Amino acid sequence: MGMTVLDVEAAKSEAIAYVDSQADAFRETNRTIWSFAEPSLLETRSAALLADLLERNGFAVERGVAGMPTAFVATWGAGEPLIGIMAEYDALPGLSQEAAAEQRPIVSGGYGHGCGHSVFGTASTFAALAAKEAAEKAGISGRIRLYGCPAEELLVGKVFMQRDGIFDGADVVLGWHPSDRTGADFISSKAMVSVRFTFHGVASHASAVPHRGRSALDGVELMNVGVNYMREHIKEDARIHYVITNGGVQPNVVPPTAKVWYYVRADKHRDVEEYVAWVTRIAEAAAMMSQTRVEWSIDTDCHEQIPNRVLADAIDRNLKLVGSPGFDDEERAFAERIRQTIPDAPEGPALNDEIEPVPAEPRLVKGSTDIGDVSWFAPVGHLRAATQANGSPGHSWQITACTGMSIGEKGGAVAAKALACTALDLLTSGELRRQAWADFRERRGAEEYTLLIPKDQGPPLP
Ligand SMILES: [Zn+2]
Repeated sequence: MGMTVLDVEAAKSEAIAYVDSQADAFRETNRTIWSFAEPSLLETRSAALLADLLERNGFAVERGVAGMPTAFVATWGAGEPLIGIMAEYDALPGLSQEAAAEQRPIVSGGYGHGCGHSVFGTASTFAALAAKEAAEKAGISGRIRLYGCPAEELLVGKVFMQRDGIFDGADVVLGWHPSDRTGADFISSKAMVSVRFTFHGVASHASAVPHRGRSALDGVELMNVGVNYMREHIKEDARIHYVITNGGVQPNVVPPTAKVWYYVRADKHRDVEEYVAWVTRIAEAAAMMSQTRVEWSIDTDCHEQIPNRVLADAIDRNLKLVGSPGFDDEERAFAERIRQTIPDAPEGPALNDEIEPVPAEPRLVKGSTDIGDVSWFAPVGHLRAATQANGSPGHSWQITACTGMSIGEKGGAVAAKALACTALDLLTSGELRRQAWADFRERRGAEEYTLLIPKDQGPPLP
């Protein structure tokens, strides 16, 4: 299409200038979503805010995709290629917090953006707007698509969007996550299945006629003992954790119902499949021992993330072009006060303000993300940007605090600019897309994508 390297670099400058020119709208969007602080699958106002903003700026918006009212897709442009950017916007329970350096909930026990998803959604949206603005001015063709992904905290949104074909046709999908550091991600994550077990017994007076009762709680306890013996014989990278969500009501009634909720994780989905099958066999055995009955359901099933070296390098180049967040003394002082509340905070600056190099080998993250499922079908490029005090624990009030003020927004602006620039590279370079796909195919291999969620089961809407 006659785009020269110079033209693309000029378009990137345009995208960067656009994000700077929108600083007020960026701040307003972040702080509004931050104060909505809506739970997973109930992000009604947050999703509408972002979708409306995109629609006002020339994107065609489809709302309520994949059976989730708060999932949406916004597309600008026409033809090929199609470059996607993912946004998340759900909050977390118990992490309500003012934008202050000491713990001060706005609503006691309320929801808060303790994973930074208010700025995540905001920055991804402004990345799409900036890329569109620059592409339009430079006459760059193709499509830019913002994927509004709900319920990341339940590892639900993208799994069901992927299953419904929402990501089909994307040449590359880009994303980012708030962090205490800035750099292109070259990472893999753990695959994870969420499975809930319900044991059914028989109620009876626990002292007068215990022989007529069968305790569902016994079933749960025997199951947990069995699983805890299983641990010795699984691979070191596997993780199994559970909570008893219903253990009966009071001791003098033999519990007729008891529930236990498990997460089963490992570096490879095929191992998770094996371990889930093993755990369900243990549940059946526990039901047999306690003369109860057990049933289970799988809420979600997410896959390990497949890293992409080509996209990590492309993002790294753009991060260097954009530069680090550039925190000021006031922000550093705020972060220093935050850091004093973190017992095991690392040495070094209170705010990391440099761009970390891409590691030689993929880093194995010990958590899970539903981005994994997207990465099994198209190359995914990802970055992290410093939006919080160095060493902030994941899912913490410290993150809520920094996300709701200028620290979060400065890091978010870096993410928006770097994603927009990478999208422009991908729109204009067939060679970059080919290389990203070659890297994807090599790491992806021929392994079958197996989803343990029953085909007729929809997302777990509240
Ligand atoms: Zn998160």
